Amino acid sequence: MTFDQHLRGRFKYYDVLDTFLILDTILGKTRSYAGEHFLYRSTFAEVDYGDTTLSPETSTDRDDFIFGSAVYTPYRILVEFLAQPESTFTAFVKESGEQGLAKIGFVAAGDRRVEIEVDTKKFNVISIALTTPDDLYGDVRDEFTYSDYDDFGVSDGDATFTFAGHITERKHDIIVNEVRIAHDSTPIDNVSSILPRLSKGYALHEETPKPTEIMTATKFNSEIYFLEFRQAESRVLLVNFKEYLLVAEAPLTPENGELILKKAHDLFPNKPVRYFIFGHHHPWYLGGVRSMVHDGVTILSQPMDTAYVRQLVTFPHHLRPDMLEKEPHPLILETFDSTKTITDGDLEMQVLSLGKMSKHTDDYLMYYFPKYKLLFEDDLSGSVVGKPTRPADEREKGLYEGIKKYNLDVETIAQSWPNSPDYETIFSSSKLAEKVGMMAK
Ligand SMILES: [Zn+2]
Repeated sequence: MTFDQHLRGRFKYYDVLDTFLILDTILGKTRSYAGEHFLYRSTFAEVDYGDTTLSPETSTDRDDFIFGSAVYTPYRILVEFLAQPESTFTAFVKESGEQGLAKIGFVAAGDRRVEIEVDTKKFNVISIALTTPDDLYGDVRDEFTYSDYDDFGVSDGDATFTFAGHITERKHDIIVNEVRIAHDSTPIDNVSSILPRLSKGYALHEETPKPTEIMTATKFNSEIYFLEFRQAESRVLLVNFKEYLLVAEAPLTPENGELILKKAHDLFPNKPVRYFIFGHHHPWYLGGVRSMVHDGVTILSQPMDTAYVRQLVTFPHHLRPDMLEKEPHPLILETFDSTKTITDGDLEMQVLSLGKMSKHTDDYLMYYFPKYKLLFEDDLSGSVVGKPTRPADEREKGLYEGIKKYNLDVETIAQSWPNSPDYETIFSSSKLAEKVGMMAK
């Protein structure tokens, strides 16, 4: 098994059981990034990887650190367990005497479900499973197993301590992290840069509440609407065919999917949303797919994406239930091979595969409306407002060549992301041609 990243470092927990210091370094191919993390009771301080100054930390950052430290040691999560009022964990307690294993569990900050498996003969932690809610992937289970327990020559008078020498982290049964621990007698306090810098007044920053999404509908014409998402910086395409509506793209979350559907029903009360299509498989375009399924919308997909769509639709969302979790609805999937035309006899939408030409993803699509000489694509171009025109990059060149390949007569290009006042996301095809013309020959 090979990993993209290697990490090396040292950690120490102090006699005062709720003090914990980690110094570790991400070893990159060309350079390394040192980081330092310090926890004392409810206070957390950190110099992030590659940084030299203390970063502003919130209680969420502290909790992420505590549960992330499971990759080094189960110790800090045990401390968290011991701090729980009994009422939060009793329901989970389970003991199977024969193997001498006990399973304890509790609900922790951030809706995390924590399960700790303990060897009741040696009182070693065998495994910890953390389940956390994710908008897209649902209840994500992260499993840490601890083995090769050893005292590593550490003793304190009569007391002996044992440490797990080998830790593996698995997600979806795939090992994503593997850690080996060795004893190092060098006092790490001496090389800490964080400890001397922590003044008496050091405190966690206030949590800034997540801003609520604001979505506005822009009428391009009576048949084509753009739904503009401020927080997600995304543009969704809503197409008004004679008998039904089509939604293209739904950024990041099921909540955003619901916003789109609500707006579609408000604008066109008597028309169903029949189709949902996504320009490629990234979360900005597929994040709201579960809401579409819940609403009975047919999902249009190329064969290469159907397995992923099925996963997104079937992943359990028990911890933070969305509408599809609360009211299950079967997936209605319709596949097409690279191109598809949707028409009501007057308005025609051509779905065209750009694929590898996009220099972004193999499943890349663009949508063309001959009636309006309009092309819609997700994220291939980027022109900063107010900056002089620059030569096209590879993705822009790919888009340009795609338009040529299909012989499209395009006047206007509308892009989904990044939809912010800083970027030109509705531009003329002549601007794209100009940029391609500026490329070095
Ligand atoms: Zn993308």
